[in-house]
Amino acid sequence: MTYKSVNPYTNETFNEYQNASSKEIESALQMAADLAHTWESESRSKRAEILHTVANQLRAQKSSMAEIMTQEMGKLIGESEEEVSLCASIADYFADHADEFLEPTEIETTGASANVLKQALGPILACEPWNFPLYQVMRIFAPNFMVGNPVILKHASIVPGSARKIAQIVEEVGAPEGSLMNLFLDYDQIGEIIADPRITGVALTGSERGGKEVAKAAGENLKKSTLELGGNDAFIVLEDVDKDVLYEVAPAARLANTGQTCTASKRFIVLDSLYNDFIKQLTKAFSQVKMGDPMNRDTTLAPMSSEKAKAKLQKQVDEAVAAGATVVYGNQSVDLDGQFFMPTILTDITSENPIFDQELFGPVATVYRVHSEKEAIELANNSQYGLGSVVMSSDLKHAEKVASQIKAGMTFVNHGWTSLPELPFGGVRNSGYGRELSKQGMLTFVNEHLIYTVEK
Ligand code: NAP
Repeated sequence: MTYKSVNPYTNETFNEYQNASSKEIESALQMAADLAHTWESESRSKRAEILHTVANQLRAQKSSMAEIMTQEMGKLIGESEEEVSLCASIADYFADHADEFLEPTEIETTGASANVLKQALGPILACEPWNFPLYQVMRIFAPNFMVGNPVILKHASIVPGSARKIAQIVEEVGAPEGSLMNLFLDYDQIGEIIADPRITGVALTGSERGGKEVAKAAGENLKKSTLELGGNDAFIVLEDVDKDVLYEVAPAARLANTGQTCTASKRFIVLDSLYNDFIKQLTKAFSQVKMGDPMNRDTTLAPMSSEKAKAKLQKQVDEAVAAGATVVYGNQSVDLDGQFFMPTILTDITSENPIFDQELFGPVATVYRVHSEKEAIELANNSQYGLGSVVMSSDLKHAEKVASQIKAGMTFVNHGWTSLPELPFGGVRNSGYGRELSKQGMLTFVNEHLIYTVEK
């Protein structure tokens, strides 16, 4: 069976799930269409109440929700708990701000009144990745629930238990049946759902491979789509950086969530005068991690999510080394049974190296020495991706100027990657299109309906 819960710390398969039948898919599609129709004539206030209850329920069930996430994809239990808390705040945020964000906007025009209504588009499909099993779902569910778009969820095949629990929580608090429906789908079934006239749009967060397929199906069926894809985010260290801040931010920007974050810093671009010190400090931080049971609160680096993810990363590192990269630290086997990958630092990566512009989705940092700020910006922009980035400098205006020259959807100054309900999240180029979270994210699957009225 495709949908399996395998603990990457113990390698034990502890659950398997059947794919959805054609009958279940038909029933979900009809339920979604019926609910979208019902919501058209209902006020949002009741849904706001329910969404606050979802938030409270997440807080109440924090331990059990966090545990299943850690068991299925291995992240540290503390990271899972933080994710649950963030998701509760996302639910509260959209419950609180929906009326404001969906308020009609008036347009000044001559001889008529013009208003743009923000109306629901209809049921949407969400294809989500495993790296933040709850957060990825909440980013799409919370705003669309308030808009009035029912969501069919196709979660990653390695986190089926998390997917089922999220849908159960939504159901338990009294959300109408069909608000969030989890289906264990294969790729052909995804194509069929996208083609179904009852579906109005599709959101995918994941790899370029999955993104291309889903966007193609959406295009063929003239459905709106958003893609939140991978990145090869730059972390630029300017000469006037506050070193205490730098050495606190840099290791976590790469290693949090075992490096399996789309906006994790992957390429550290360091000005010449700081380069040697940076390598020394990053090596020190990487050598101090404690690998072990992700349920143990003393562990600081969890296993990777699966055997497949670890094998892919190892292959990329091997190819990088074969093409001339230097291993400054790491890349040795770890004497533990789980899917552990030793934190690794690579340097001497030329633009010909096969990994130069690949996403390394795990605890591997690449470090580049540059001789000017211009060179740093050029290197940061020398990528097919454009998701996040970081600029480190104690001169904030200067840092913001550098930030504005990076071709990315998000740049964080003196801070590692972050995500908050009010901040738009998304990228450009091969990192995808569209935004999630914030007012912008909420307006994605909305019909901005113009009412133009001539008075006389
Ligand atoms: P993935 O393989 O593309 O999977 C993402 C989702 O799409 C899963 O539900 C997957 O299902 C499904 N999928 C994959 N191929 C598909 C296809 N051909 N047709 C239909 N559905 C398909 O991505 P991943 O490797 O699990 O996730 C990691 C990637 O996500 C990284 O590149 C990371 O940077 C990116 N990411 C981006 C963001 C962002 O906001 N930009 C956030 C988080 C992660 P199965 O599991 O059944 O294959």
